[in-house]
Parts: sequence; structure tokens; C-alpha cells
Amino acid sequence: MDKPLVSFKDVEFKYRTDEPLVLKGVNFTIQPKEWVAIIGHNGSGKSTIAKLMNGLIFPQSGSIQVGGLSVSEETIWDIRSKVGMVFQNPDNQFVGTTVKDDVAFGLENRGVPRLDMIQRIEESLKAVGMEAYANHEPHRLSGGQKQRVAIASVMAVAPEIVILDEATAMLDPRGRKEILSTIQNLRKEKELAVVTITHDLQEVMLADRVIVMNQGEKWLEGSPREIFSSSNELKEIGLDIPFVTKVTDDLRNIGVTIEGEPLNHEELVEKLWTLSSTK
Ligand code: ADP
Repeated sequence: MDKPLVSFKDVEFKYRTDEPLVLKGVNFTIQPKEWVAIIGHNGSGKSTIAKLMNGLIFPQSGSIQVGGLSVSEETIWDIRSKVGMVFQNPDNQFVGTTVKDDVAFGLENRGVPRLDMIQRIEESLKAVGMEAYANHEPHRLSGGQKQRVAIASVMAVAPEIVILDEATAMLDPRGRKEILSTIQNLRKEKELAVVTITHDLQEVMLADRVIVMNQGEKWLEGSPREIFSSSNELKEIGLDIPFVTKVTDDLRNIGVTIEGEPLNHEELVEKLWTLSSTK
């Protein structure tokens, strides 16, 4: 196995000294090029993990490593070049009056030379399919387009990992699809690792691995198939399971034998066909 890109070791965190811990000894690793979904109820600590990962906040105990660096006050600028973040509300992420200016902003902050900057802006807008909008005003774009520009701004800095913190939550189904296919393409082209913090089960299915958070603790960890086959553990903490998993559970409860864990409608139909043809 490769050396992990991100590692959290016994991480404990609270926002205020007089309050209980928000993260209680969290351990996990993320490999280069891996897609990890973090799910869990509101308040379970997901965004806190994201903020710790790019040095917006620091743990009270435990350690966090990103790209071989220990996250601390001394390393935050390097860390932030490695970890890009895209947030939920597309309207809160713009600083420029044009799409191009907006992508330029992060580069100017890092003192990238002008010629290099122009090239990086072009390349990153192209990578998200927004090159035709370079001179447009960001606020006139659709939600999905705005998030694609936000992703371009992050990509211009050439990160090793991109965190999408509920970045598709405010979008319509079309915008959501746009973002997910953009991320899938970028991941292939740029060998990027991705962390999605999400309530969207379709988005979870795209991940290589899922981390389930519950009240500041890691509750479960595994592939989407493993996680959703642990439907009792998910139900125990009141988390939703995919429709196909529900139907599979119901069929089993009435005595139908279904092998394995179908993850989508096609897989379930296939298993039911096999079943009926062997009877
Ligand atoms: P999630 O992303 O899973 O919804 P968060 O990481 O945002 O959860 O929050 C975890 C806990 O930390 C919650 O109890 C929340 O109220 C608290 N919290 C989050 N941000 C702050 C903050 N800036 N100041 C104080 N408490 C916070």
C-alpha cells in the first residue's frame, strides 16, 4: 500500500474549553487518489474533520499528517496548497467580478508569476468545462456552474486532495450530476484524492471507502457495499440506507434468498432474475 496522503491519529478536538469534545479520538487514513465519503448526522463532526485537514483549526491532542507534513501553524501554507476545499453555498465562494478573476485570486495570494497564472487559469477552467465563461460575472451562473468555478479555483493551485463539504447539497439534480462528473474526470486526469462530506447516497456510492461519523466518533468504515450491508448498524444511529438496500432487506424478511449486497437497481434485478431462473 502507498504511504497515506492523510492520516489522523487519536485526534481530539473541541471548539471551546468549557464544552465536551467534538471529536473523540478519531483515527483514519486516506491514500493518494482515493475517494472517501464521510457521512453522519448533522453535528457528528464531519466539517470539523475537513477544517482540521487543511489547518483552519488544530487538534487539542493527537496528530494530523497531510502529504508527509505535520499540520501546524508552521506548515499551513504548504498544507493549504495540498488540500483544496469547496463548500456548500456557491454564492459565498466568490471574490472576483469575473470568473477569470475569481480563479486568479488564490494564485495571486500565492505569488504565482503572471504568465504562469494565465496558463493555470485557462487550464483549470477547461478542466471543469467552464473555459467559455472566463469573462462572465460569477453571480449570473447556475448553481452547478458556480460550483464548477469554485472547483477550478481550487484546482488552479494544483492540490493533492479536494474536500467537497456538502458542495452538491444546494444544487438541483442536474447541477449535482455536473459536479460529480467533473470531479470524476479531474480525479482520473490529475490523480486527485477526494473527500466528499455528504447526505446524498448516490454520491456515497461513488466513493472507494466510506467513514460513518456518530457523535464525534468513527462509527463504521468500509466500502459502500460493506457499509450499506451493515444496515442494522446504520439504522441503530438513525441514518438512511439506500432504497435498494431497503428493498433487499424487506425481500429477505419475507424469505427471499438474495446473495451478496446489490448496490443499485440493476444489480438487484440481476439477482432476482438469477433466482427466478434457478427455480
Ligand atoms: P457536521 O459537519 O457533522 O454537521 P460539525 O463538525 O460542523 O458537524 O460540528 C460538530 C460539533 O461542533 C457540533 O456540535 C457543532 O455545534 C459544533 N461546532 C461546529 N462549529 C463550531 C464553532 N465554530 N464553534 C463552536 N462549536 C462548533
